Amino acid sequence: MNYHNITVNDMLNGEGLRSVLWVSGCEHGCKECQNPITWDVNGGLPFDEKAEKELFDSLRPDYISGITFSGGDPLHPQNRAEIFRLIKKVKEMYPDKTIWLYTGYLWEEICTLSGLENIDVLVDGEFVKELFDSQLHWKGSSNQRVIAVKESLKEGKAVLYKEKDYVCN
Ligand code: SF4
Repeated sequence: MNYHNITVNDMLNGEGLRSVLWVSGCEHGCKECQNPITWDVNGGLPFDEKAEKELFDSLRPDYISGITFSGGDPLHPQNRAEIFRLIKKVKEMYPDKTIWLYTGYLWEEICTLSGLENIDVLVDGEFVKELFDSQLHWKGSSNQRVIAVKESLKEGKAVLYKEKDYVCN
């Protein structure tokens, strides 16, 4: 798998302060995509041991809520095995951190993939320029859905993530 960047203390791609892995490879070709440089699955840099260490080290501080996988598309067919390996490792090393993933596929297209059960929140769907709204939380266009993965797997259909579910009283 190749990647373009690892960003830390990110506040825009999920809840809290997060580390974000921006992978290479996307087949969706959305009009006015903000990251067309990430479309080539062979672009960017190999995600090697050094990059993996950088990513996992960035998750260590208590103030980091978790990790977000984005791109590109982490669920590009050539990325899936490596992404699910990383997700499993995050769950083992940092069981209290949340895992978010952005994909251009619809939930209904990927919901049978093994390994999804370790993801907390998945934002699905292609970016549609005509449906862009800068006021939307965690997504670019109104067709996209912020999905609670465990609840969706249990219900057998996409269940939307509600922030209040994750607020401790
Ligand atoms: S899915 Fe995301 S990365 Fe891929 S083309 Fe659409 S907006 Fe760009």
